[in-house]
Amino acid sequence: MPVLPVRLSCPGAVLTVLLSLTAGVGVSSQGSAPSLAIVNAPGPLKPGGVALITVTATHDLVEVTGGVSARPVRFWSGSSPREWSALVGINVDAAPGSLPLTIEGRTADGSTAVTKASLLVVRHQFETRRLRVDPKMANPPESEVARIKQEAQAMAEAFAIVTPQRYWHGPFNAPVPGTATSSFGRLTVTNGKPAGRHQGADFRAATGTPVQAPNAGRVVIARNLYFAGNTVILDHGLGVFSLLAHLSRIAVVPGATVARGDLLGESGATGRVTGPHLHWAVRFGEMSVDPVSLMSVLAKSPDEAAHPSH
Ligand SMILES: [Zn+2]
Repeated sequence: MPVLPVRLSCPGAVLTVLLSLTAGVGVSSQGSAPSLAIVNAPGPLKPGGVALITVTATHDLVEVTGGVSARPVRFWSGSSPREWSALVGINVDAAPGSLPLTIEGRTADGSTAVTKASLLVVRHQFETRRLRVDPKMANPPESEVARIKQEAQAMAEAFAIVTPQRYWHGPFNAPVPGTATSSFGRLTVTNGKPAGRHQGADFRAATGTPVQAPNAGRVVIARNLYFAGNTVILDHGLGVFSLLAHLSRIAVVPGATVARGDLLGESGATGRVTGPHLHWAVRFGEMSVDPVSLMSVLAKSPDEAAHPSH
């Protein structure tokens, strides 16, 4: 995890994502073949961006699976077994170009329907921040290396678990008041060497500001970490996680279930920071996505009330 500065900034580059849809292709062994259609072509995306995709089917489906390139896309059924939705994330390092999205639905009798789309990602120039620091300070002390490795392992194991139940519903809210300054994706170059991209969004927050759960979930990590300081990780279900870092105080324990808005702790400046702020990261499995994009896409399209357009 990179050093997290208190200075907030916002990349201003403009980006575009194009979505092209191919016609839904029904595949069935016999009778009236089921078919699938994407009813809400995703809005503009960027690397690190999130889209909500909803499909409708001509038949009741018992399962819908999907993938973007090799990454799984996890669907849930909406108001009927003919309407399914999923969140799709674009990797922050995604190269400009076309990403194939494939969606397959299955009926109780085993018939399947497939639909495909192409996500076309256009180049985005993230901000680059260049730092010159004393080489002795650029790396953590030798005595902390084992701890850091253990913590990275614990986080990787937490993010690898896909809870089949969806805990979250409706919009994700910012964990602290105020405007999110999305410095997601910013590249830090330390002494000329790339030192990683900013994996979350920073919020201005004085020490002691209540930090609330962005959405419902289960606490999977609540402890002090070398880089992130006092940290809470929430499993929202279906492979979606929130990480809240640099807290002055943690108010939950691992295993606890929380609702949207529940108190997780108070913001602070623990870990490797230069001042108090709240760092919120969102994971789709092993991939970080922009929390601001997640808030935006679900604010516009509440998952429980997705209506087919036309
Ligand atoms: Zn941050």
